[in-house]
Amino acid sequence: ATATRALFMLFGATGDLAKRKLYPSIFNLYKKGYIDQEHFALIGTGRREWSDDKFHEVIVESVKDNAESEDEAKGFASHFYYMSHDVTNPEHYDALSEYANKLDDKYDIQGNRIFYISMAPNFFGTVAKNLKAHNCLSDNGGFNRLIIEKPFGRDYESAEELNNALGKSFNENQVYRIDHYLGKEMVQNILALRFGNPLIEGIWNNKYIKNVQVTLAEKLGVEERAGYYDGAGALRDMIQNHTMQMLSILTMEDPVSFKDVDVRSEKIRALRSMRIYSPDEVRENFVRGQYGKNGDQADYRHEDNVPEDSNTETYVAGKVMFDNQRWANVPFYIRTGKMLADKFTRIDIVFKKPLIDIFAASGKQEGDLQNNVLTLFVDPVNKVILHLNGKKAGQGMEMQPLDLTHVQSDAEKAATPEPYERLIHDAILGDATNFASWDEVGRAWKFADVIRNVWDNDQPDFPNYTPGSMGPKTADELLARDGNEWIKK
Ligand code: NAD
Repeated sequence: ATATRALFMLFGATGDLAKRKLYPSIFNLYKKGYIDQEHFALIGTGRREWSDDKFHEVIVESVKDNAESEDEAKGFASHFYYMSHDVTNPEHYDALSEYANKLDDKYDIQGNRIFYISMAPNFFGTVAKNLKAHNCLSDNGGFNRLIIEKPFGRDYESAEELNNALGKSFNENQVYRIDHYLGKEMVQNILALRFGNPLIEGIWNNKYIKNVQVTLAEKLGVEERAGYYDGAGALRDMIQNHTMQMLSILTMEDPVSFKDVDVRSEKIRALRSMRIYSPDEVRENFVRGQYGKNGDQADYRHEDNVPEDSNTETYVAGKVMFDNQRWANVPFYIRTGKMLADKFTRIDIVFKKPLIDIFAASGKQEGDLQNNVLTLFVDPVNKVILHLNGKKAGQGMEMQPLDLTHVQSDAEKAATPEPYERLIHDAILGDATNFASWDEVGRAWKFADVIRNVWDNDQPDFPNYTPGSMGPKTADELLARDGNEWIKK
């Protein structure tokens, strides 16, 4: 492992995400030697008046499950420094800058800085601006990188505004926009499976693929996120970011190399060929849903902190088309929702049947042959199943399904880092492959904005699906119209 010297400056250090994900991830990187144990420090800021001792207690608590001993956790925590700080007060940044320089000297960090904004998005621009204006970036040859949490805007206009604000202080190649789906093992495996196997890449096109289905299903409702969620909806929360990212990886052409710039430029090219719908096409190709009541389970409009007349969608399904040589006429069906039958993320690649079924033609019953399907299970289990047709053992020539299955082993599972650990590591190495670039984010907003506009102006027929189901009937009809059906019912 290359051990990188790094000074982290974390905004939102008392927050939930920091405690649950960021400290354990940084600890693992420290423990594995990716972060130089001698030359590392973290300044955490938040609104609360915490002492360093209090901060250390929180750190020890949050990493103790991953630590061999309390001493190890305490040793790690000793690199942490807390500053109570109001991010809207410019003067505070002078103190931060001074502190950063002091710690840089103390730990001989040589100017490598990672700024991580784990706060509500309305603060992203303010923090970035003040960091630059108050000399918090190093200028002695080290790197300065900014990691930004989601959501990145709530439509194209606000995202562009935010991006311009960041651009005044950081170059695009210094900005790392988190989409934690890009840190998932199976999502990264798509590139390995596609570009490592002529067997797969050779048929990865409209000649052999009938349709592609991407499902991000949640079993729970809005829980305590209702306040945020009701102002966002499933389109913004799951489609514009995670689903679009997965689509771009599924549809991109082979990159010139596996370097971040090359991978990203192909992802952008794929997204640029994604058809942006007219309002009528939105009504035809996208459906939305909101869950109703089921037994003790309240309907969405009666959840805590949700207005009784809310028209926010908790479910989206749609058909996405890519107008290029590879994908012309292949529907990409996507869907996501809350309160569905189960919690999982999966991608089903549905292949066409042979043009002629010679088995049926020679007197066998028709309909014996099934579509080949390659299913990539992203969550919760990491699994690949290739669904083929084979011969049923015995006399004659009867067909039966033959599944080739690979399930991640316990050893592989243990070796798989959490998305946040992987992504922070990438940022330390300066590898932006698994972060969302501005062009990708912007394009995805343009696609989502058209849908949002139609939905904001048309009256929905809510509630329209039952908790525990796989969504509204209209989502099945969407595929049935094309002679298709969801593989996972
Ligand atoms: P949180 O509300 O728990 O924490 C917010 C942090 O911001 C606290 O440390 C608070 O002190 C600080 N803060 C707020 N106003 C401040 C001010 N004026 N000056 C200085 N500090 C201030 O939020 P969270 O759940 O940790 O989420 C942080 C970010 O991560 C958000 O952008 C959220 O959208 C994103 N995110 C969170 C999760 C999650 O699971 N919690 C998942 C994905 C993305």
